[in-house]
Amino acid sequence: SREWHLVSRPVGVPKPEDFALVEADLKQPGPDQIVVRNKHLSVDPYMRGRMSAAKSYVAPYELGKVMLGGAVGEVVASNADGVSVGDHVLHGFGWREYAVFDAKHAVKVDPGAAPLSTYLGALGMTGLTAYAGLLRTASFQEGDSVFVSGAAGAVGSQVGQIAKLKGASRVIGSAGSDEKVRLLVEEYGFDAAFNYKSGPVSEQLRKAAPDGVDVYFDNVGGDHLEAAIGSLNLRGRIAVCGMISVYNNTEPAAGPKNLARLIATRGRIQGFLVGDHYDLQPQFVQEVGPWVASGELKYRETVVEGIENNLEAFLGVLRGDNTGKMIVTL
Ligand code: NDP
Repeated sequence: SREWHLVSRPVGVPKPEDFALVEADLKQPGPDQIVVRNKHLSVDPYMRGRMSAAKSYVAPYELGKVMLGGAVGEVVASNADGVSVGDHVLHGFGWREYAVFDAKHAVKVDPGAAPLSTYLGALGMTGLTAYAGLLRTASFQEGDSVFVSGAAGAVGSQVGQIAKLKGASRVIGSAGSDEKVRLLVEEYGFDAAFNYKSGPVSEQLRKAAPDGVDVYFDNVGGDHLEAAIGSLNLRGRIAVCGMISVYNNTEPAAGPKNLARLIATRGRIQGFLVGDHYDLQPQFVQEVGPWVASGELKYRETVVEGIENNLEAFLGVLRGDNTGKMIVTL
């Protein structure tokens, strides 16, 4: 079974030499363990953080060991009550072809209810991130105008569409190509969108949101955050989900220069972690599941084939190669 190891800690943009695809012996499953043949692997921006040694909310990946990540697969052997060969499960042992682990770490999923890969994206971790961040952290209310960065990505595309479906007055998105910008407006129903690479974010945001924004869902940080503070309305709320523009920085990034604007606006800025919001999972599936099934909420996946391309897929997420959730299919 092949698996990806981290062999050295990347400095700046990760390089292929920091990783190795290794052939490993498949362990025999112990008591209460299962063997899963992975079918879809998740590659996510947060993994960049785990490649560094710095202390954070998840432990760093260990050097010389297989990396971890979300995955869905089929059970091919089971010593556990309640889990049978042929079952499909969601688990955290990605970056490998086969995984052997305690069945208590597996969540059964139904391949008949939704495509398996969506348990990693639209109906999985990134979907819940959008839902919890918008509704809970940003306290979204009907009538709010919402700006989301990284809007053509897995989380961002869902934030914008959930806001529209729940009665936002205006939804604005930013993304890194004209093609993505077109997708936001023409397919996902955003009211306005702009390419952050074609001009200053603050100017483009002011044009796209002449009446300001009540909610900013931040996936990017940097100029985007500063621009959103500049366009924030009275009692505006900023949910800090991610700051992908700084993940490869080797020096701490400068903060927004206009934070004082939060005083006049009584603005609120708050970070969140999806891991704290799994109590919302049943409500999320109940509300968003039917929208996904009916096509009212659209999603894209960028699929990369083969375990040998797992690393390239991850590097692609940092470059913006993906539209919607990046999935590695084995
Ligand atoms: P995406 O599917 O959005 O992929 C990442 C995207 O980021 C790329 O496609 C690229 O799109 C964009 N990007 C890359 N570099 C930059 C840059 N310098 N400036 C602006 N955009 C950039 O990933 P996810 O949906 O999985 O994650 C989105 C964000 O949410 C990330 O910041 C992630 O860390 C965070 N997150 C946080 C969670 C939490 O619990 N707080 C949980 C899950 C995700 P483009 O072409 O538009 O540049």
